[in-house]
Amino acid sequence: MKVLIDQDRCCGAGSCVLAAPEVFDQREEDGIVALLDPTPDESQRALVDDAVSRCPAAAISVVE
Ligand code: SF4
Repeated sequence: MKVLIDQDRCCGAGSCVLAAPEVFDQREEDGIVALLDPTPDESQRALVDDAVSRCPAAAISVVE
């Protein structure tokens, strides 16, 4: 699994960080998403899928 983020779309809502804190973080200066782990373990899949569905900006995508 490979996680891609589009920081230009991100509105800093933080839902992804709440859903999958081992994969996503937010930049301190502006709250824009930062990717902690671009290739998370399969054990993170449900949490990453949850983050994708919660993101109001559709800024997260997953490539198999
Ligand atoms: S949930 Fe989406 S909009 Fe919110 S911080 Fe994460 S990537 Fe950005």
